[in-house]
This record gives sequence, structure tokens and C-alpha cells, in this order.
Amino acid sequence: MDPLLNTATNPSALITGGSRGIGRGIALELARLGWDLMINYAGNRSAAESAATDCQATARHAGRTLRVETFAADISRPQDRNGLLEAVRDRFGRLDLLVNNAGIASLKRVDLLEASEESFDRVMAVNLRGPFFLIQQASRWMIEQAKHGSQPKIVNISSISAYTASVSRADYCLSKAGLSMVTQVFAARLAEHGIQVYEIRPGIIATDMTAPVRDKYDSLIRDGLTPIRRWGTPEDVGKAVSAIAQGLLPFSTGEVLNVDGGFHLRRL
Ligand code: NAD
Repeated sequence: MDPLLNTATNPSALITGGSRGIGRGIALELARLGWDLMINYAGNRSAAESAATDCQATARHAGRTLRVETFAADISRPQDRNGLLEAVRDRFGRLDLLVNNAGIASLKRVDLLEASEESFDRVMAVNLRGPFFLIQQASRWMIEQAKHGSQPKIVNISSISAYTASVSRADYCLSKAGLSMVTQVFAARLAEHGIQVYEIRPGIIATDMTAPVRDKYDSLIRDGLTPIRRWGTPEDVGKAVSAIAQGLLPFSTGEVLNVDGGFHLRRL
């Protein structure tokens, strides 16, 4: 029987960089819903396995049964992206949600006038080229699935850096601005197939990525940088993905969800 028509199977999600931080927060919220999960990670297998164990515990607590798999793949590499999608196909036979979460910061925070091509190329390869081609490949499969009645979705985790100029990490800002357009072009292209594409723009979220600048952001937040005066959490982002996964935004595509404590508001 076509697994897509078999309502006994759980919907499945692929989360890139799901082993820690925001990706792990997203995985936990989807586990609460009872989704089968493919947790991709770059290199830290034990972190990925521990995220998978936590997802199983969360699901059990919510009275759900699910399958959680982990898979090492560098999303900047075409052969790794192929392997990753093949693994989803093998293990679950369906893909209902692709979350492009994996991302890296600039290799070094340096002034724009000193920025290196090495950092530029790496950041673009992971944050922009990887998601673009992963969506391209996944969406060909999703189009086939949608013909059988499923409504696959894609979520790109960008950043407030998509529209905020930081002169010490220009490559990161450029990659996130580009990812924002990736959302728009694929939303426009895939709507006719019933596939919705969303961008989530997290603000300042407490993870390993922001650990090196914790003190700086502590004082900025205390001084009112964000109307909601606290750090964001991976769970905050996970809940936004969960709303999309549940189909709670049925007439929206190419939409931006700001998960930033109100950072984006212009104030006077
Ligand atoms: P993190 O560094 O804690 O986690 C990043 C994850 O991505 C890890 O699981 C890592 O293994 C994975 N990863 C990195 N490079 C990879 C690659 N080449 N292939 C596959 N996986 C790879 O970061 P985070 O704070 O959880 O960030 C997650 C996403 O959210 C990133 O795209 C980041 O740009 C974005 N974001 C973070 C913040 C924040 O404040 N933390 C704010 C806005 C946006």
C-alpha cells in the first residue's frame, strides 16, 4: 500500500542540524505532536543520539509513538544531501516537513573591510547553497507525494540578520537575506502543487551559537533591545514550527514568522 495513503503511518519531518540548539527545540516540539523525525547533524553523533532519546521521552510523555533516526550529513555537500534524502525515503517513505535549520556563524567576527573569502564561501555554502539545493531536491519528491493527497511543507530558519546590518559578520547577514528570497521563490513555485514554504526569523536565542556573545546580549536585552525583555529559547522557535506543521496557516505561503520578542518593531 502507498505509505502516503496509509493513515497508520506518522507524518515525518527532516530537521537539518537537529542535534542541538534551535534544531533540537524544533525536534522536541514535533515529537510532542507524534511526528517521525530524521535528525540530521554535522559531526557530533552523541549529541544527535541524545536529542533522539529526548524526543522519544517527550513523545512518550505526550502519549505518542514515533520513530526517530539520526543521520550525519554536511548539507553543503551534494552527495551528503542525496544520502540524507535517501535515508528519509528508506526509513519513513514520506517527507511531510523539511526544516532547513542547520547554519553557521561567520568563521570570525571581523570588520567588513577585513572579511575573508574563506568565511564568505563557507557561510554561503552551509546557510544558503545547502538549503537551496536541498529544497530543490526534496520538493521534486514532495510534488509526487502531494499528488497522493499529502500537503508537504518547508520551513527555512533565517534570522533577524536577514534585514539587520551587522558590520562584523556581513557574510552571515548576506546568507540569511538570501535565504529569505529562497523562501519566496520556492513559495511562488510550489504553491500550485499544494506545498507551502515559510520563513521563521528567530531573534536572539540562547544556544551554542550565541554563547560567545552572551554578556553583550544580556546587557542589550536588559536595556530594552527587544520589547519582550528576555532571551528567546529553542522551544519558542519549535512552537512556531509546530504551528506550521499542524497546518494552522492554511492560506499563507512565503510568510515570515518573527520569533524575536518584538525586535523587528520600529519604535519611537
Ligand atoms: P547551533 O550552532 O547551536 O546549532 C547548529 C546546528 O547546525 C548544529 O546541530 C550543527 O551540527 C548543525 N550544522 C552546522 N553546520 C552544518 C552542516 N554543514 N551540515 C549539517 N548540519 C550542520 O546554532 P543555533 O543557534 O541552534 O542555530 C540554528 C539556526 O538558527 C541557524 O541557521 C542559525 O543561523 C539560526 N539562528 C540562530 C539564532 C540564535 O540566536 N541562536 C538567531 C537567529 C537564527
